[in-house]
Amino acid sequence: VRGVYAGVVLAYVNGELCAPEAARVSPFDRGYLFADGVYEALRVTMAGAGAGGDPRVVAPHRHVRRLARSLGALSIPWPAGEMLTVARQLIEGSRLSEALIYFQVTRGVPGLAGRAPQALRTHVPPAGLTPTVFAFIRPMPRLDTAELAPPTKRCATGADMRWLRCDIKSIALLGNVLASVQAAGAGAEEAILLRSTPLGRVASEGSLTNLAVVRADGVLMTPALESASILPGITREILLDNNTDLAEGVVTEADLRAAREVMLLGTTAAVTAVTHLDGAPVHDGGAGPITRRLHAGLMELVARAREDI
Ligand code: PLP
Repeated sequence: VRGVYAGVVLAYVNGELCAPEAARVSPFDRGYLFADGVYEALRVTMAGAGAGGDPRVVAPHRHVRRLARSLGALSIPWPAGEMLTVARQLIEGSRLSEALIYFQVTRGVPGLAGRAPQALRTHVPPAGLTPTVFAFIRPMPRLDTAELAPPTKRCATGADMRWLRCDIKSIALLGNVLASVQAAGAGAEEAILLRSTPLGRVASEGSLTNLAVVRADGVLMTPALESASILPGITREILLDNNTDLAEGVVTEADLRAAREVMLLGTTAAVTAVTHLDGAPVHDGGAGPITRRLHAGLMELVARAREDI
């Protein structure tokens, strides 16, 4: 199947695979009207599959657990484990082996039968809606285990204008979009968000990723989930489980600006070295040793695990 939508080769809507240009949902869906929905982004890879092996989703059960948590926070009734069935269909249908799967569940379309007309757009959702499930797969460059240098990005700081429930992987991403646009305007590739808290200004995460720093005193730290409103990222979680020297805590703005190394963590970012922050070089403008070590370690885990990591 060959699509025209920016390399998206196959889509899925409510039980059916389709070409991306044929994908349809109603504009009355509460996802469209209220951003009433949640999403996941999954990496598909052949790394570690061996000869004749199948491509697989990286850390599938961590993603299912997070989707279940997000759906639970919104009380959207949908069995999160089904995401892996849809992922399998997209992988087999597209025949892609290195790919990204975007997957979202929204609350659904309030049909009018038997309901008051205002049910079409009320803040409290009518009961009994059928969730709308939309997904697509697109190619993504392989995370190559032989090529151990981490990706790099130039970043700009920006105000974290988002809400207090960034732990939910909500499709409402305007705060992330505005911060990304502002960073792009400053010639940077991603924003690092600073949030005002009772402890002063703290770094929360990247506009598309989680954050970790090697502080000036050498401590390797990622913002704790409760130190700011942030997403419990799967990559961050895998790194915490496999690197005992990675601590969780408060990363202040001063810590960030004085850091020896700054890195971005995410499904597509892996461990990305931040080479510049607001135009000033970090670690002389290259990837530092801890960033390289974490990235190489993550690549090894991805390549080693046949099942879950
Ligand atoms: N933080 C934000 C705001 C994100 O959008 C993402 C990825 O989509 C992440 C962190 C990283 O999460 P993960 O490692 O699960 O991809």
